[in-house]
Amino acid sequence: MSNSELLFAQAREVMPGGVNSPVRAFGSVGGIPPFMVGAKGAYLTDADGKEYVDLVCSWGPALLGHSHPEIQSAVHAAVDHGLSFGASTPDEAKLGQLIKDRMGGVERVRMVSTGTEATMTAVRLARGYTGRELIIKFSGCYHGHLDSLLADAGSGVATLALPGSAGVTAATAAETLVLPYNDRAAVETAFAEHGENIAAIITESAPCNMGVVTPEEGFNKFLKDTTAKHGALLIVDEVLTGFRASSSGYWGLTGKIEGWNADLYTFGKVIGGGLPTAALGGRAEVMDYLAPLGPVYQAGTLSGNPVAMAAGIAQLTHATDDVYTHLTKQSDALQEAIIEAFTAEGLDHSIQRAGTLFSVAFGTSEKGVHNYADAQAQETFRYAPFFHSMLDSGIYLPPSVFEAWFVSAAHDDAAMEKIFAALPAAAKAASAA
Ligand code: PMP
Repeated sequence: MSNSELLFAQAREVMPGGVNSPVRAFGSVGGIPPFMVGAKGAYLTDADGKEYVDLVCSWGPALLGHSHPEIQSAVHAAVDHGLSFGASTPDEAKLGQLIKDRMGGVERVRMVSTGTEATMTAVRLARGYTGRELIIKFSGCYHGHLDSLLADAGSGVATLALPGSAGVTAATAAETLVLPYNDRAAVETAFAEHGENIAAIITESAPCNMGVVTPEEGFNKFLKDTTAKHGALLIVDEVLTGFRASSSGYWGLTGKIEGWNADLYTFGKVIGGGLPTAALGGRAEVMDYLAPLGPVYQAGTLSGNPVAMAAGIAQLTHATDDVYTHLTKQSDALQEAIIEAFTAEGLDHSIQRAGTLFSVAFGTSEKGVHNYADAQAQETFRYAPFFHSMLDSGIYLPPSVFEAWFVSAAHDDAAMEKIFAALPAAAKAASAA
């Protein structure tokens, strides 16, 4: 029995499914998840001493590579001053300012500890600010596990949603309208029917939780214009894409160019440099509705934790333009290598992109992937053999076809060569499935 097998068996005695976050259990690809004991640069090391080139990068935070020396030393220095003070500390505003500097329309920032908390607060704030109840979300977008956003589409356009998880009440789900992504007509119909009671649209800046789906040109601007016209807010969820898709998130590839800002943004992952911090940001007039200035309550014992702030400041300070140029170069090279390997096997596929992020979808070359229905219609069965062939070759991919792939500043040519070398056999395995 390998160490990972043993650890997984022990973990299952202690935690539901042996994990603290479901995707780690390898439910959709099968097999024993390797338990990781170390991470450095572009590599992970498992409990059996096997090394992997990591294309998950902690789902984004390892932007500069694992155990980046500047982040490690900032964290060590912060630890030496104390772990948590239960009072305000200088670095909170400093990290907030770094976020403000890169994102249009972020005038105030509130630190929280997880992306879920950020979106939960954004939704409550939008309701408190507008005095309205309904939230529009798009099918296939994930915004964390708050009840009201764990809602699935009802039948037809602009119907009230049904619960997407046991434990979510029908009444809560009915406060959310779930629409197909990239569908402007559905948005217009929803506003025509429910406009006076819609508090906000929440959207991933570019969806990355049904695989990557590129927003059609002008779609985010359309959402901004539509919400503005109807007195609702636009919440742009950059938890995954923030400071990752580009130096100013996916907004940097849309709003910054098209000249619009979200009313509220949510951030997570990258801004904590690997430690648990996340944030909500946006227009001062809206943000100042939060307590202590306004009537919308929100709080957090460990919010703005000094160790996490130090990691986030080091991360954003060292995430220079050169880093994003490198990510773009390596991401492009990887996509080209995938296309080459798949084409050699005659494997039908498409690649969806959101800045430096991308994902592959099997059997979708004709239509592409524009929404959740397209993502679900792909040949998902090809991913597990592809994934396991890569894993055997020492490449750690996202353990689900519905997740994005991440490279880091530490993915040098040697790491990339290892990935390229593993692709042909994995493409063969996917093709044979
Ligand atoms: N929003 C998006 C777009 C996400 O991808 C995620 C997590 N994958 C979340 C929110 C929730 O963040 P967390 O897991 O930190 O609660």
